[in-house]
Amino acid sequence: MHQTSNAGDILKATELLARERGLARVSTIRLNLAAWADLDPDEVRDEVLHAAQGTLAEGARIEIEVIDPHGRCADCGADFDPKTAALRCLACGSVRVRLEQDRQVTVASVE
Ligand SMILES: [Zn+2]
Repeated sequence: MHQTSNAGDILKATELLARERGLARVSTIRLNLAAWADLDPDEVRDEVLHAAQGTLAEGARIEIEVIDPHGRCADCGADFDPKTAALRCLACGSVRVRLEQDRQVTVASVE
């Protein structure tokens, strides 16, 4: 199984954050990977490095942290930690689940 992390979107978010902070260049990108997405951090790093070529983030160091966002079931209200991308409430099996982090990868910060 291979999932794409959509490096282009990550770069867009990175450039937005950099502009907000008035950075001319990005030296570090910190990414949060959702544990349920089951992505390979090394692959994500490679994809982002590749996508960063020719942008203000070219050559940036990429720090990746795998986080475990909580999910909450919209049907029974149970809180749980989703472990896979096949999101289901662990209590009642409902697929109407809301996540604290609903994207596979988010940009936590840039420097
Ligand atoms: Zn439930």
